[in-house]
This record gives sequence, structure tokens and C-alpha cells, in this order.
Amino acid sequence: MLESQYWWLIAFPIFFGLGWLAARVDIKHVLSETRSLPAAYFKGLNHLLNGETNRAVEVYVDIARHHAETIELQFSLGHLFRRRGELERAINMHQKLLERRELTDAQRQSAQFELAQDFMKAGLFDRAEALLNELQHSDYARQARTELLGMYELEKAWKKAIETAQQLRDDSHSYQHEIAQFYCELAEQSLTRSKKDEARAYLAQALETHRQCSRARLLRGEMAFAEQDYAAAIDEWLALESQEPHALALAMRQLMAAYDASGRGDEGTTLLLRLLKHYPELDVMDLAYERLMSLQGVDAAYEFVRERMREHPTMPGLRKVLEAHLLVAPVEQKAELEIIVRLLNDVTRDQSMYYCHHCGFKTKQYFWHCPACNEWETYPPVRGRKKASA
Ligand SMILES: [Zn+2]
Repeated sequence: MLESQYWWLIAFPIFFGLGWLAARVDIKHVLSETRSLPAAYFKGLNHLLNGETNRAVEVYVDIARHHAETIELQFSLGHLFRRRGELERAINMHQKLLERRELTDAQRQSAQFELAQDFMKAGLFDRAEALLNELQHSDYARQARTELLGMYELEKAWKKAIETAQQLRDDSHSYQHEIAQFYCELAEQSLTRSKKDEARAYLAQALETHRQCSRARLLRGEMAFAEQDYAAAIDEWLALESQEPHALALAMRQLMAAYDASGRGDEGTTLLLRLLKHYPELDVMDLAYERLMSLQGVDAAYEFVRERMREHPTMPGLRKVLEAHLLVAPVEQKAELEIIVRLLNDVTRDQSMYYCHHCGFKTKQYFWHCPACNEWETYPPVRGRKKASA
């Protein structure tokens, strides 16, 4: 009876003892953690400060391996590996993260998104696409779609690009220009396979998406020109004047050829000179000079460039005046003039390039899609026009 009444007198100290022991073990564990973790971190930091990035990375990889709780560190390392182009390591790191059961939903989605980016960079588009599609209903939906769009552009998978851009549409970005460009890309693909009706349908869709799509108009003009329907080609190209007159420069040589082929050469020349007067920046001075030279002779060409120089003085304009002057100048002046023209050629070389207004990339060829920054319609169709002067 007494034993059963006072059992707790003995039990209590035992419980306390066990608790104390458990606490000791825990504290010891925690102490060892807090002691070892910062030491290793500082070791890595020291390497970083000494510029020994590779050794720092190895230290951090070691920390990540031995301390399972350092999930954020694993994310950082994975990101770093991808940036350094060590894609196999990045993929490995993110795959290991994904295998962990204790990840929150947000962490799992983040790891999946990171892994998809690794795959994309490694050119494993199918695997990236599958992962990104899985994220369509997560917090990463928009980012995943943006990545998918970039990937489809790289792969020239224009139909999928159109679908994705349509899903991305919102108040801040209509993707109108991009979608119209994707239709133009499809039209160009159809044209290389001689599927004219298909191309025509795509161009109609481009204009339906973006009524002022210059590229679609230019392509429709080119198609009509190739079919020798010069009147239709002229109409298509002239429609550009009311929407993007400077884009006319991209078709002007063919436009003049269309006038010539339909026996309306003089009308073409008059139009060319009128357009140049209206739009002084229109990038067709060389063409106008050549045309006047061949149709009306050197005096008319010389007079044209001199008048233009007075109205719209530019360095390439000056070069043209001297080139023309060289043709009519007395023999004793020619040697000197040739040197000046050559020097002017050197200093105006930059003005014979197209400039991307998004990234500044310069190129001799005109692009609708910048090969450097992948943005659309970032090149003004005027050579030498840089962003600052836009
Ligand atoms: Zn660019």
C-alpha cells in the first residue's frame, strides 16, 4: 500500500534525470553544429576573399553534403554552377534537392524551375519543357511560360510560341508585336517550302494581330513581286508610308524595280525623291544617287547630293557629295579628293550599321529579331541611328 502510494517519489527524479540527459545531448549537438558550421562558412568566405573561387565552392559543397538542413545553400550552389556553365553539377544539385521529402511546396517548385533552366542551358529542351509545363498551375506559372516562350523562339517552334505568348498576354504586355512576328516567321517557313497559300494565310493573321506590322506588309509585297504582280507589290509597299515610313527603305530597291518592270520608271523616281524630302532620315540616299546617276547622268546626281547636303547635312551625305564631286572634278584635284573620300569612309563606317535599341548590338544586316538580346523589332530601319539619338 505504502509502495503504491509513494512510487512517484522515486519516479520523479528518474524523469528529471532522463530529461536533463536528453537536454544535454541536444545542447551538445546544437553546440557542435553552431561551432562547426560558422567555421566552415568562414573558411569558404576566406577563399572567396582571396579570389580562390574554386576552393570556396568545394568548401560550400562539403558543407551542403554534411549539413542536410542547408537547403538555401544548395539552391545557391546550383545557381552558381549553372552560371559558371558547370551544367552537370547544377543538374545534379537540383535533382538531389528535388528528391528530398522535407521540401515545402514553394521550395519544390523553385527547385523544379531551377532544374528546368539547367536543362534549357544544356540544350535538353524536351526535359526542360516537361518540367516547365508541370509548373503551369503553380506560383511559377508566369515565369515558366516566359522561359517556355524563350525556348520556343530558340527552337523556332513558332506555333507553340504563339500559343504561349497568348497565354502570357496581360494589361502590361499585349505581345501583339511578338505574335505578329511569329506569324511572319511561319510565313517565311512556308515560303521556303513554296507553300504560298499557307504563307498568305499566316501574313493575314499577322496583320490581324497587329494591323501595323511592317514585316507582314513587306513580305506581302515581296510575294506579289515574285509573282510579277508589280501593281499589287507597289500597293503593298506604299501602304507602309502611313504606318512606318522608314521601313519603306527596306523595300525601296525592289519597289523601284517594280516601277521599272511595269514601265513606270519616272513615277518611281519622282516618288523616291518626294519620300526623301518628306522623311529626311529615310535610308535610301545611296539608292537615289545611283538611280539618278544611271537615269539622268552625273550632273543630276551631283546636284541631288549637294541639295540634300544643304537640307539635311550628315557625314555620310558629305561623303556622297565628295564621291560625286570626284567624278566631275578637274584631274589635278582627284588624288586629294580620293584621300578625303577614303578618310570619310573610315569615320562614317559606324553609320553604315543597324543598331539594336535594346542592347546596342550593331550589324550590317537588318534583323527583326536581335541575335544578341533576342528582342523583337528593336532595330530602326535607319543605318547609323543609335539609341541616344532616337
Ligand atoms: Zn539587341
